[in-house]
Amino acid sequence: MTEVENRMAYGAFDNWGYNKKLKPLVGNLRRNMTKSEACLWKYALKAKQLKGYQFRRQRPVLNYIADFICKELMLIIEIDGITHDAETSLAKDKNREEDLNRAGFKLIRFTDEEVLKNISGVVTAIEAEVETIEKSTPLIPRQRGTRNTHNSKKGNYDKVSFTGRTTFDESIKNEMMEKNVAVFLDRDGTINEEVGYLDRLDKLKTITTAYEAIKLINLSGMKAVVISNQAGVARGFFTEEFVNTVNNHLLADLKKKGASIDKFYYCPHHPEDGKGEYLQNCGCRKPAPGMLLQAAQELNIDLANSYFVGDRFIDMETAKKVGAKGILVKTGYGEDLLQDDGPDTASPENKPDFIAADILEAVQWILKDRKNIK
Ligand SMILES: [Mg+2]
Ligand SMILES: [Zn+2]
Repeated sequence: MTEVENRMAYGAFDNWGYNKKLKPLVGNLRRNMTKSEACLWKYALKAKQLKGYQFRRQRPVLNYIADFICKELMLIIEIDGITHDAETSLAKDKNREEDLNRAGFKLIRFTDEEVLKNISGVVTAIEAEVETIEKSTPLIPRQRGTRNTHNSKKGNYDKVSFTGRTTFDESIKNEMMEKNVAVFLDRDGTINEEVGYLDRLDKLKTITTAYEAIKLINLSGMKAVVISNQAGVARGFFTEEFVNTVNNHLLADLKKKGASIDKFYYCPHHPEDGKGEYLQNCGCRKPAPGMLLQAAQELNIDLANSYFVGDRFIDMETAKKVGAKGILVKTGYGEDLLQDDGPDTASPENKPDFIAADILEAVQWILKDRKNIK
C-alpha cells in the first residue's frame, strides 16, 4: 500500500474512525459548547478563517471526540475545560495525545483562560503551528482561497501525492477500536447505604452484597465505573476533596475483599442551589449523560452495550440517554420509588430494564443478559 492509499483506507480525509453510535452524543456536545470553545470557533476557526483551512468541531477521531480538527493538516486543537480530577485528567490527556501522535495527528491544547483572555495570542500560536506543518508537508492540499475551485470531496485527493508525515500502524487502529463494556454504578444507595448527604466518613457503610457484585464485574472483564451526583459540594455541605476521600475509603474497603472500581466520576454542581462555580446547569449532573460520555472517552467504552445500576429513576434516564440498559435496585431510594414515594417519579423515559433486590442481583442479571446477547 502506498502512503496515499494507506491514508485513504483509514479515511484520513473523510470519515475515518467515525463512530455512528457517538453521533447523537456529538450533536449534544456541539449544542453545548463551552464559552471558550465557542470563542475559539467564532474568532479563529469557523468559515476557513485560519489561513483558509477547514476546521470542524467535535469530531470523533479514533475513539476520542476532538474539540476541533483540520483533517488536511491532521491537526487537532483541544481546550481544557473544567475537570473534576485534574491529576487523572492530565494523565489521560497525555495518553490520548500519545495515541493521536502515533496515528499521525498533531495535537495542540489551550486552556479556557488562554482562549478567553488572549484569543489573538492563541490565533498566532495556531498559525505558527500550521506554518510548521505546511513546511514539513509541502504537498498538503491547500485550501487557502480555494473555496470554490478546490472540491474537498474524497475523490479529488486521489491525484495528490503525500509525503510520509504519517505512518499508520493497523494494529493501533484495531487496538483502539476494541471497546469496553461498562457497568456504571451509582454510589449512594447502590454500593453504600443511602444516608442523605454523606458528609462524615463514619456514615460510609458498604452494602454487604456490593463486594461480591463488584468482584463479579471485575472478573467479567467489564469496567466498573462509579457515576455519582454530589450536589452537597455545590451546597457547601462538603468539599470535593471530601468526596475524593470518601471514594478512596470506599475503594480501599472494596479492595480488602478483592473488588475494585476502575474509575469514579462525580458531579459537584447544582443548577439552582450552589456557590460560585458550582452553581451551574452543567452537562454532568444526572440525568444528563456528561459523566458517561467522559467515561466513554477516557475508558474507551461502548455505551450502547453498557449498563447502569442505580437506586433512582434519574439513573435509569441517564442510561437511556446513551442507549445503555438500566437496572433499578431496591436498596437506597429504590424501594420507596416503587411505592411512588421517592425523590423522583416514574416516566416512560426512565423505565428500568430490570428491577433487582440489590446490586448483586442486578449484576447477576447483567451477566445473564450478556450471555443472551452473545
Ligand atoms: Mg443513589
Ligand atoms: Zn456537573
